[in-house]
Amino acid sequence: MKYHLITMGCPKNKVDSDGIEMLLQEGNYRATDSARDADILIVNTCGFLEAAKEESIDVLNELGRHKRRHQVLIAAGCLAQRNGQEVIDRVPKVDGLLGTRRWMEVLELVNQVRGGKSKRKLAQYQMLGDHALSVPALLDDPSAEYTLAVPRPPILGGSAYLKISDGCNAPCAFCTIPSFKGKLRSRPLEAIVDEANALVMAGAKELVIVAQDTTDYGRDRGEPNSLPQLLTALSRRTPDDLRWLRLMYAYPGHVSDELIEVMAREPKIVPYLDMPLQHGDARTLRRMRRPARLEMVYDHMSKLRAAMPNIALRTTFIVGYPGETEEEFQGLLDFVQAIEFDKVGAFKFSAEPGTPAAELPDPVDEEVQEERYARLMELQQPISLRKNQAQVGRQLEILIEGEGEIEGSGAPLLLGRSYRDAPEVDGLVLVPGISGVPAGSMLEVFINGAMEYDLVGEPLIVETFSSNKSNIALS
Ligand code: SF4
Repeated sequence: MKYHLITMGCPKNKVDSDGIEMLLQEGNYRATDSARDADILIVNTCGFLEAAKEESIDVLNELGRHKRRHQVLIAAGCLAQRNGQEVIDRVPKVDGLLGTRRWMEVLELVNQVRGGKSKRKLAQYQMLGDHALSVPALLDDPSAEYTLAVPRPPILGGSAYLKISDGCNAPCAFCTIPSFKGKLRSRPLEAIVDEANALVMAGAKELVIVAQDTTDYGRDRGEPNSLPQLLTALSRRTPDDLRWLRLMYAYPGHVSDELIEVMAREPKIVPYLDMPLQHGDARTLRRMRRPARLEMVYDHMSKLRAAMPNIALRTTFIVGYPGETEEEFQGLLDFVQAIEFDKVGAFKFSAEPGTPAAELPDPVDEEVQEERYARLMELQQPISLRKNQAQVGRQLEILIEGEGEIEGSGAPLLLGRSYRDAPEVDGLVLVPGISGVPAGSMLEVFINGAMEYDLVGEPLIVETFSSNKSNIALS
Protein backbone atom coordinates (compact mmCIF):
# COMPACT_ATOMS: atom_id res chain seq x y z
CA MET A 1 0.00 0.00 0.00
CA LYS A 2 1.27 3.46 -0.86
CA TYR A 3 0.59 7.05 0.17
CA HIS A 4 1.19 10.35 -1.57
CA LEU A 5 1.50 13.30 0.79
CA ILE A 6 1.62 16.98 -0.18
CA THR A 7 2.58 19.57 2.44
CA MET A 8 1.44 23.16 2.06
CA GLY A 9 2.36 26.17 4.16
CA CYS A 10 4.96 26.67 6.82
CA PRO A 11 7.75 24.58 8.35
CA LYS A 12 5.50 23.76 11.32
CA ASN A 13 3.22 21.88 8.94
CA LYS A 14 6.24 20.04 7.59
CA VAL A 15 6.96 18.76 11.10
CA ASP A 16 3.43 17.32 11.37
CA SER A 17 3.76 15.81 7.89
CA ASP A 18 6.94 14.05 8.98
CA GLY A 19 5.03 12.58 11.93
CA ILE A 20 2.15 11.49 9.65
CA GLU A 21 4.63 9.82 7.30
CA MET A 22 6.33 8.01 10.12
CA LEU A 23 3.01 6.59 11.33
CA LEU A 24 1.94 5.56 7.84
CA GLN A 25 5.25 3.81 7.33
CA GLU A 26 4.82 2.01 10.63
CA GLY A 27 1.43 0.95 9.27
CA ASN A 28 3.20 -0.58 6.25
CA TYR A 29 2.43 2.20 3.80
CA ARG A 30 5.21 3.34 1.48
CA ALA A 31 5.66 6.83 0.07
CA THR A 32 5.20 7.45 -3.63
CA ASP A 33 5.78 10.59 -5.69
CA SER A 34 3.00 9.57 -8.01
CA ALA A 35 -0.54 10.42 -6.94
CA ARG A 36 -1.80 7.90 -9.47
CA ASP A 37 0.02 5.01 -7.79
CA ALA A 38 -1.08 5.89 -4.27
CA ASP A 39 -3.81 4.29 -2.20
CA ILE A 40 -3.93 7.20 0.24
CA LEU A 41 -3.77 10.83 -0.89
CA ILE A 42 -3.14 13.35 1.88
CA VAL A 43 -2.84 17.11 1.63
CA ASN A 44 -1.51 18.77 4.79
CA THR A 45 -3.23 22.08 4.17
CA CYS A 46 -2.49 25.66 5.16
CA GLY A 47 -5.31 27.96 6.26
CA PHE A 48 -3.25 30.91 7.43
CA LEU A 49 -4.10 33.39 4.68
CA GLU A 50 -6.92 33.48 2.18
CA ALA A 51 -4.51 32.85 -0.72
CA ALA A 52 -3.01 29.82 1.04
CA LYS A 53 -6.49 28.48 1.75
CA GLU A 54 -7.48 28.74 -1.91
CA GLU A 55 -4.26 27.04 -2.94
CA SER A 56 -4.94 24.16 -0.56
CA ILE A 57 -8.51 23.78 -1.91
CA ASP A 58 -7.13 23.80 -5.47
CA VAL A 59 -4.60 21.08 -4.68
CA LEU A 60 -7.28 18.94 -3.01
CA ASN A 61 -9.60 19.36 -5.98
CA GLU A 62 -6.81 18.59 -8.44
CA LEU A 63 -6.17 15.30 -6.66
CA GLY A 64 -9.92 14.75 -6.36
CA ARG A 65 -10.43 15.16 -10.12
CA HIS A 66 -8.07 12.28 -10.89
CA LYS A 67 -9.00 10.18 -7.87
CA ARG A 68 -9.70 6.55 -8.61
CA ARG A 69 -12.31 4.43 -6.89
CA HIS A 70 -10.04 2.65 -4.45
CA GLN A 71 -8.20 5.82 -3.45
CA VAL A 72 -8.78 7.75 -0.22
CA LEU A 73 -8.40 11.54 -0.15
CA ILE A 74 -7.69 13.18 3.22
CA ALA A 75 -7.43 16.88 4.03
CA ALA A 76 -5.15 17.35 7.04
CA GLY A 77 -3.73 20.41 8.78
CA CYS A 78 -4.80 23.95 9.48
CA LEU A 79 -7.48 24.41 6.84
CA ALA A 80 -9.14 21.09 7.73
CA GLN A 81 -9.08 22.17 11.36
CA ARG A 82 -10.31 25.67 10.82
CA ASN A 83 -12.72 25.36 7.89
CA GLY A 84 -13.62 21.67 7.85
CA GLN A 85 -17.15 22.25 6.63
CA GLU A 86 -15.95 24.46 3.83
CA VAL A 87 -13.48 21.77 2.74
CA ILE A 88 -16.33 19.24 2.65
CA ASP A 89 -18.52 21.65 0.68
CA ARG A 90 -15.89 22.70 -1.83
CA VAL A 91 -13.97 19.45 -2.31
CA PRO A 92 -16.60 16.90 -3.27
CA LYS A 93 -14.10 14.02 -3.42
CA VAL A 94 -12.63 14.44 0.06
CA ASP A 95 -13.07 11.39 2.30
CA GLY A 96 -11.75 12.53 5.65
CA LEU A 97 -10.49 15.46 7.70
CA LEU A 98 -7.52 15.24 10.03
CA GLY A 99 -6.97 18.14 12.40
CA THR A 100 -3.77 19.76 13.60
CA ARG A 101 -3.91 18.14 17.01
CA ARG A 102 -4.86 14.64 15.96
CA TRP A 103 -2.53 13.93 13.09
CA MET A 104 -1.23 11.01 15.12
CA GLU A 105 -4.56 9.28 14.48
CA VAL A 106 -4.00 9.16 10.73
CA LEU A 107 -4.09 5.36 10.59
CA GLU A 108 -7.39 5.20 12.48
CA LEU A 109 -8.86 7.71 10.05
CA VAL A 110 -7.58 5.80 7.03
CA ASN A 111 -9.02 2.57 8.43
CA GLN A 112 -12.39 4.20 9.06
CA VAL A 113 -12.58 5.55 5.55
CA ARG A 114 -11.36 2.32 3.99
CA GLY A 115 -13.95 0.51 6.10
CA GLY A 116 -16.34 1.58 3.38
CA LYS A 117 -18.67 3.81 5.29
CA SER A 118 -20.94 5.89 3.15
CA LYS A 119 -19.65 9.22 1.93
CA ARG A 120 -22.76 10.81 3.34
CA LYS A 121 -21.42 10.04 6.77
CA LEU A 122 -18.28 12.02 6.19
CA ALA A 123 -18.69 13.78 9.51
CA GLN A 124 -17.78 10.48 11.17
CA TYR A 125 -14.42 10.55 9.50
CA GLN A 126 -13.29 13.77 11.01
CA MET A 127 -10.46 13.73 13.50
CA LEU A 128 -10.23 17.36 14.25
CA GLY A 129 -9.61 17.60 17.97
CA ASP A 130 -10.60 21.24 18.07
CA HIS A 131 -9.70 22.61 21.45
CA ALA A 132 -13.20 24.07 21.64
CA LEU A 133 -14.87 20.70 21.08
CA SER A 134 -14.99 17.82 23.43
CA VAL A 135 -12.32 15.42 22.32
CA PRO A 136 -11.57 12.33 24.32
CA ALA A 137 -8.20 11.20 25.64
CA LEU A 138 -5.92 13.83 24.24
CA LEU A 139 -7.53 16.64 26.11
CA ASP A 140 -7.48 14.67 29.33
CA ASP A 141 -3.72 14.85 29.11
CA PRO A 142 -2.93 18.03 27.22
CA SER A 143 0.67 17.00 26.67
CA ALA A 144 -0.10 13.46 25.53
CA GLU A 145 0.33 14.12 21.84
CA TYR A 146 3.62 15.90 22.40
CA THR A 147 5.41 13.25 24.39
CA LEU A 148 6.21 11.26 21.27
CA ALA A 149 9.87 11.10 20.35
CA VAL A 150 9.59 10.87 16.62
CA PRO A 151 12.61 9.41 14.79
CA ARG A 152 12.06 11.20 11.51
CA PRO A 153 14.53 11.36 8.68
CA PRO A 154 16.15 14.77 8.35
CA ILE A 155 15.07 16.91 5.46
CA LEU A 156 16.85 19.16 3.02
CA GLY A 157 20.37 17.92 3.30
CA GLY A 158 21.02 17.35 6.97
CA SER A 159 18.49 19.79 8.37
CA ALA A 160 15.35 19.00 10.37
CA TYR A 161 12.67 21.01 12.11
CA LEU A 162 12.10 20.53 15.82
CA LYS A 163 8.72 21.70 17.09
CA ILE A 164 8.74 22.65 20.76
CA SER A 165 5.17 23.82 21.31
CA ASP A 166 1.91 24.39 19.50
CA GLY A 167 -0.72 27.11 19.80
CA CYS A 168 -0.21 30.70 20.86
CA ASN A 169 -1.25 33.02 23.70
CA ALA A 170 -0.61 36.27 21.81
CA PRO A 171 -3.55 38.49 20.82
CA CYS A 172 -2.38 39.63 17.35
CA ALA A 173 -5.47 41.10 15.69
CA PHE A 174 -4.73 39.80 12.19
CA CYS A 175 -3.88 36.23 13.06
CA THR A 176 -6.17 33.23 12.85
CA ILE A 177 -3.76 30.74 14.37
CA PRO A 178 -4.92 30.92 18.01
CA SER A 179 -8.52 30.40 16.84
CA PHE A 180 -7.78 26.94 15.50
CA LYS A 181 -4.55 25.96 17.23
CA GLY A 182 -5.72 27.13 20.64
CA LYS A 183 -3.58 28.35 23.50
CA LEU A 184 0.10 27.53 23.90
CA ARG A 185 0.90 23.93 24.75
CA SER A 186 4.57 23.18 25.31
CA ARG A 187 6.09 19.76 24.86
CA PRO A 188 7.99 18.37 27.83
CA LEU A 189 11.69 19.22 27.74
CA GLU A 190 12.73 15.55 27.93
CA ALA A 191 10.57 14.61 24.93
CA ILE A 192 12.14 17.40 22.87
CA VAL A 193 15.68 16.37 23.83
CA ASP A 194 14.85 12.73 22.96
CA GLU A 195 13.49 13.76 19.60
CA ALA A 196 16.54 15.95 18.94
CA ASN A 197 18.81 12.99 19.65
CA ALA A 198 16.75 10.74 17.38
CA LEU A 199 17.04 13.29 14.58
CA VAL A 200 20.79 13.60 15.04
CA MET A 201 21.11 9.81 15.02
CA ALA A 202 19.17 9.86 11.73
CA GLY A 203 21.74 12.27 10.26
CA ALA A 204 20.57 15.79 11.11
CA LYS A 205 23.40 18.31 11.41
CA GLU A 206 21.05 21.24 11.91
CA LEU A 207 17.91 21.47 14.03
CA VAL A 208 15.61 24.39 13.32
CA ILE A 209 13.51 25.16 16.39
CA VAL A 210 9.95 26.14 15.50
CA ALA A 211 6.64 26.90 17.23
CA GLN A 212 4.09 29.67 16.85
CA ASP A 213 6.11 31.60 19.45
CA THR A 214 9.30 29.77 20.47
CA THR A 215 10.10 32.36 23.13
CA ASP A 216 6.95 31.64 25.14
CA TYR A 217 8.04 28.03 25.66
CA GLY A 218 7.04 26.64 29.07
CA ARG A 219 4.55 29.33 30.18
CA ASP A 220 1.63 26.86 30.10
CA ARG A 221 3.65 24.54 32.34
CA GLY A 222 4.13 27.25 34.94
CA GLU A 223 7.69 27.91 33.77
CA PRO A 224 7.69 31.07 31.66
CA ASN A 225 10.98 31.99 30.02
CA SER A 226 12.22 28.41 30.06
CA LEU A 227 13.49 28.52 26.47
CA PRO A 228 17.04 29.25 27.75
CA GLN A 229 16.98 26.02 29.79
CA LEU A 230 15.64 24.07 26.83
CA LEU A 231 18.32 25.47 24.52
CA THR A 232 21.02 24.69 27.06
CA ALA A 233 19.75 21.10 27.36
CA LEU A 234 19.60 20.71 23.59
CA SER A 235 23.13 22.08 23.22
CA ARG A 236 24.69 19.97 25.92
CA ARG A 237 22.76 16.73 25.68
CA THR A 238 23.10 16.07 21.96
CA PRO A 239 26.11 14.53 20.18
CA ASP A 240 28.68 16.77 18.52
CA ASP A 241 27.36 15.62 15.14
CA LEU A 242 24.72 18.27 15.74
CA ARG A 243 26.44 21.43 14.55
CA TRP A 244 23.70 24.04 14.41
CA LEU A 245 20.67 24.85 16.54
CA ARG A 246 18.67 27.63 14.92
CA LEU A 247 15.91 29.62 16.61
CA MET A 248 12.91 30.80 14.59
CA TYR A 249 9.77 32.79 15.44
CA ALA A 250 10.76 34.83 18.49
CA TYR A 251 8.15 37.24 19.89
CA PRO A 252 9.64 40.63 20.78
CA GLY A 253 7.93 40.83 24.18
CA HIS A 254 9.40 37.47 25.21
CA VAL A 255 13.07 37.89 24.31
CA SER A 256 15.01 37.96 27.61
CA ASP A 257 18.57 38.80 28.61
CA GLU A 258 18.94 35.19 29.72
CA LEU A 259 17.98 33.96 26.24
CA ILE A 260 20.57 36.26 24.64
CA GLU A 261 23.23 35.03 27.11
CA VAL A 262 22.51 31.38 26.30
CA MET A 263 22.57 32.05 22.55
CA ALA A 264 25.94 33.76 22.89
CA ARG A 265 27.36 31.12 25.24
CA GLU A 266 26.39 27.79 23.66
CA PRO A 267 28.50 27.07 20.57
CA LYS A 268 25.87 24.93 18.87
CA ILE A 269 23.33 27.76 18.83
CA VAL A 270 23.98 29.72 15.67
CA PRO A 271 24.11 33.52 15.90
CA TYR A 272 20.88 33.94 13.98
CA LEU A 273 17.47 35.06 15.13
CA ASP A 274 14.18 35.29 13.31
CA MET A 275 11.92 37.75 15.12
CA PRO A 276 8.77 38.58 13.11
CA LEU A 277 8.00 42.19 14.09
CA GLN A 278 5.05 42.83 11.71
CA HIS A 279 5.50 46.62 11.71
CA GLY A 280 7.81 49.41 12.80
CA ASP A 281 5.35 52.16 13.70
CA ALA A 282 3.84 52.17 17.19
CA ARG A 283 0.39 53.30 15.98
CA THR A 284 0.05 50.44 13.52
CA LEU A 285 1.45 48.00 16.07
CA ARG A 286 -1.18 49.06 18.59
CA ARG A 287 -3.95 48.38 16.07
CA MET A 288 -2.30 45.04 15.41
CA ARG A 289 -2.42 44.35 19.17
CA ARG A 290 1.32 43.75 19.06
CA PRO A 291 4.06 45.03 21.41
CA ALA A 292 4.32 48.69 20.40
CA ARG A 293 7.28 49.89 22.46
CA LEU A 294 9.86 50.31 19.75
CA GLU A 295 12.56 51.13 22.31
CA MET A 296 12.23 47.54 23.50
CA VAL A 297 12.98 46.26 20.00
CA TYR A 298 15.95 48.62 19.62
CA ASP A 299 17.17 47.42 22.99
CA HIS A 300 16.90 43.74 21.98
CA MET A 301 18.76 44.41 18.75
CA SER A 302 21.63 46.23 20.41
CA LYS A 303 21.96 43.54 23.11
CA LEU A 304 21.88 40.77 20.51
CA ARG A 305 24.53 42.51 18.41
CA ALA A 306 26.70 43.30 21.42
CA ALA A 307 26.57 39.67 22.58
CA MET A 308 27.02 38.19 19.06
CA PRO A 309 28.70 40.67 16.71
CA ASN A 310 28.23 38.36 13.70
CA ILE A 311 24.54 37.68 14.33
CA ALA A 312 22.20 37.56 11.33
CA LEU A 313 18.81 39.09 12.15
CA ARG A 314 15.72 38.24 10.17
CA THR A 315 12.24 39.72 10.44
CA THR A 316 8.94 39.94 8.57
CA PHE A 317 6.50 42.81 8.15
CA ILE A 318 2.91 43.28 7.05
CA VAL A 319 2.28 46.27 4.77
CA GLY A 320 -1.08 47.88 4.07
CA TYR A 321 -2.65 47.05 7.44
CA PRO A 322 -6.06 48.74 7.83
CA GLY A 323 -5.64 52.41 8.65
CA GLU A 324 -1.92 52.44 7.77
CA THR A 325 -1.31 56.03 6.76
CA GLU A 326 1.56 57.20 4.60
CA GLU A 327 3.10 58.59 7.77
CA GLU A 328 2.86 55.23 9.54
CA PHE A 329 4.32 53.46 6.54
CA GLN A 330 7.16 55.98 6.53
CA GLY A 331 7.62 55.09 10.21
CA LEU A 332 8.13 51.48 9.13
CA LEU A 333 10.67 52.51 6.48
CA ASP A 334 12.58 54.64 9.02
CA PHE A 335 12.61 51.72 11.44
CA VAL A 336 13.96 49.33 8.77
CA GLN A 337 16.61 51.86 7.80
CA ALA A 338 17.62 52.40 11.41
CA ILE A 339 17.90 48.74 12.44
CA GLU A 340 19.39 47.37 9.24
CA PHE A 341 18.16 43.79 9.44
CA ASP A 342 20.15 41.22 7.52
CA LYS A 343 17.03 39.70 6.00
CA VAL A 344 13.48 41.02 5.65
CA GLY A 345 10.36 39.26 4.44
CA ALA A 346 7.11 41.13 3.76
CA PHE A 347 3.44 40.32 3.21
CA LYS A 348 0.58 42.45 2.01
CA PHE A 349 -2.21 42.51 4.59
CA SER A 350 -4.96 40.01 3.96
CA ALA A 351 -8.21 40.28 5.96
CA GLU A 352 -8.88 36.90 7.50
CA PRO A 353 -12.52 36.28 8.35
CA GLY A 354 -13.17 36.10 12.07
CA THR A 355 -10.17 38.17 13.10
CA PRO A 356 -10.50 41.62 14.74
CA ALA A 357 -8.36 43.09 11.95
CA ALA A 358 -10.95 42.07 9.36
CA GLU A 359 -13.45 44.38 11.09
CA LEU A 360 -11.17 47.42 11.12
CA PRO A 361 -12.15 50.50 9.12
CA ASP A 362 -9.99 52.22 6.50
CA PRO A 363 -8.71 49.33 4.41
CA VAL A 364 -5.66 50.17 2.30
CA ASP A 365 -6.19 49.91 -1.47
CA GLU A 366 -4.55 46.98 -3.18
CA GLU A 367 -2.56 49.30 -5.42
CA VAL A 368 -1.24 51.18 -2.42
CA GLN A 369 -0.38 47.87 -0.74
CA GLU A 370 1.55 46.82 -3.85
CA GLU A 371 3.39 50.11 -4.01
CA ARG A 372 4.31 50.02 -0.30
CA TYR A 373 5.46 46.43 -0.58
CA ALA A 374 7.73 47.40 -3.48
CA ARG A 375 9.10 50.44 -1.61
CA LEU A 376 9.87 48.36 1.47
CA MET A 377 11.71 45.71 -0.53
CA GLU A 378 13.57 48.38 -2.52
CA LEU A 379 14.76 49.95 0.70
CA GLN A 380 15.90 46.63 2.14
CA GLN A 381 17.73 45.28 -0.91
CA PRO A 382 20.83 47.51 -0.65
CA ILE A 383 20.93 46.84 3.09
CA SER A 384 20.89 43.08 2.52
CA LEU A 385 23.52 43.47 -0.19
CA ARG A 386 25.77 45.48 2.14
CA LYS A 387 25.35 42.88 4.87
CA ASN A 388 26.26 40.14 2.42
CA GLN A 389 29.24 42.09 1.06
CA ALA A 390 30.53 42.30 4.63
CA GLN A 391 30.86 38.49 4.55
CA VAL A 392 33.36 38.59 1.67
CA GLY A 393 36.73 37.47 2.97
CA ARG A 394 35.21 35.37 5.77
CA GLN A 395 35.65 31.65 6.12
CA LEU A 396 32.27 30.02 6.72
CA GLU A 397 31.11 26.49 7.30
CA ILE A 398 28.23 25.59 5.01
CA LEU A 399 25.71 22.76 5.06
CA ILE A 400 25.36 21.27 1.59
CA GLU A 401 21.78 21.13 0.31
CA GLY A 402 22.35 19.86 -3.22
CA GLU A 403 23.73 20.68 -6.62
CA GLY A 404 22.73 22.76 -9.59
CA GLU A 405 24.22 24.08 -12.80
CA ILE A 406 25.46 27.47 -13.81
CA GLU A 407 22.99 28.88 -16.29
CA GLY A 408 24.38 28.99 -19.80
CA SER A 409 27.65 27.10 -19.26
CA GLY A 410 26.08 24.10 -17.52
CA ALA A 411 29.08 23.99 -15.15
CA PRO A 412 28.37 22.39 -11.77
CA LEU A 413 27.26 24.52 -8.85
CA LEU A 414 27.20 23.33 -5.26
CA LEU A 415 24.37 24.76 -3.14
CA GLY A 416 24.76 25.22 0.60
CA ARG A 417 23.73 27.43 3.49
CA SER A 418 25.80 29.14 6.14
CA TYR A 419 24.58 29.83 9.69
CA ARG A 420 23.25 33.14 8.34
CA ASP A 421 20.54 31.43 6.28
CA ALA A 422 17.55 29.46 7.50
CA PRO A 423 16.29 26.69 5.21
CA GLU A 424 13.54 27.57 2.76
CA VAL A 425 13.27 31.27 3.67
CA ASP A 426 16.77 32.74 3.31
CA GLY A 427 19.52 32.63 0.71
CA LEU A 428 22.27 30.18 -0.24
CA VAL A 429 26.01 29.99 -0.53
CA LEU A 430 26.86 29.03 -4.12
CA VAL A 431 30.10 27.18 -4.79
CA PRO A 432 30.79 27.09 -8.55
CA GLY A 433 32.82 24.41 -10.24
CA ILE A 434 32.29 21.71 -7.62
CA SER A 435 30.12 18.62 -7.73
CA GLY A 436 29.89 15.27 -6.00
CA VAL A 437 29.69 16.56 -2.44
CA PRO A 438 26.82 14.75 -0.70
CA ALA A 439 23.86 16.71 0.64
CA GLY A 440 24.10 16.94 4.42
CA SER A 441 27.91 17.37 4.45
CA MET A 442 29.52 20.39 6.07
CA LEU A 443 32.14 22.20 4.02
CA GLU A 444 34.48 25.10 4.88
CA VAL A 445 34.39 27.79 2.23
CA PHE A 446 36.04 31.13 1.63
CA ILE A 447 33.45 33.76 0.70
CA ASN A 448 34.55 35.65 -2.40
CA GLY A 449 31.34 37.14 -3.74
CA ALA A 450 28.03 38.57 -2.58
CA MET A 451 24.61 39.28 -4.07
CA GLU A 452 21.44 40.60 -2.44
CA TYR A 453 20.27 37.19 -1.29
CA ASP A 454 23.12 34.75 -1.90
CA LEU A 455 26.83 34.49 -1.27
CA VAL A 456 29.48 32.90 -3.48
CA GLY A 457 32.35 30.87 -2.08
CA GLU A 458 35.19 28.53 -2.90
CA PRO A 459 36.15 25.48 -0.86
CA LEU A 460 39.18 25.68 1.36
CA ILE A 461 41.70 23.11 0.24
CA VAL A 462 42.74 21.31 3.38
CA GLU A 463 43.47 17.72 2.48
CA THR A 464 43.01 15.36 -0.40
CA PHE A 465 39.56 13.93 -0.81
CA SER A 466 38.30 12.16 -3.86
CA SER A 467 35.78 14.45 -5.35
CA ASN A 468 34.95 15.18 -8.95
CA LYS A 469 36.74 18.35 -9.09
CA SER A 470 38.90 19.34 -6.21
CA ASN A 471 40.58 18.49 -2.95
CA ILE A 472 38.25 19.61 -0.24
CA ALA A 473 37.69 19.03 3.43
CA LEU A 474 34.37 17.52 4.37
CA SER A 475 32.83 16.57 7.64
S1 SF4 B 1 2.46 35.61 17.82
FE1 SF4 B 1 2.32 34.77 15.74
S2 SF4 B 1 1.03 32.94 15.91
FE2 SF4 B 1 0.75 34.12 17.80
S3 SF4 B 1 -1.08 35.37 17.40
FE3 SF4 B 1 0.71 36.63 16.85
S4 SF4 B 1 1.06 36.27 14.65
FE4 SF4 B 1 -0.34 34.66 15.41
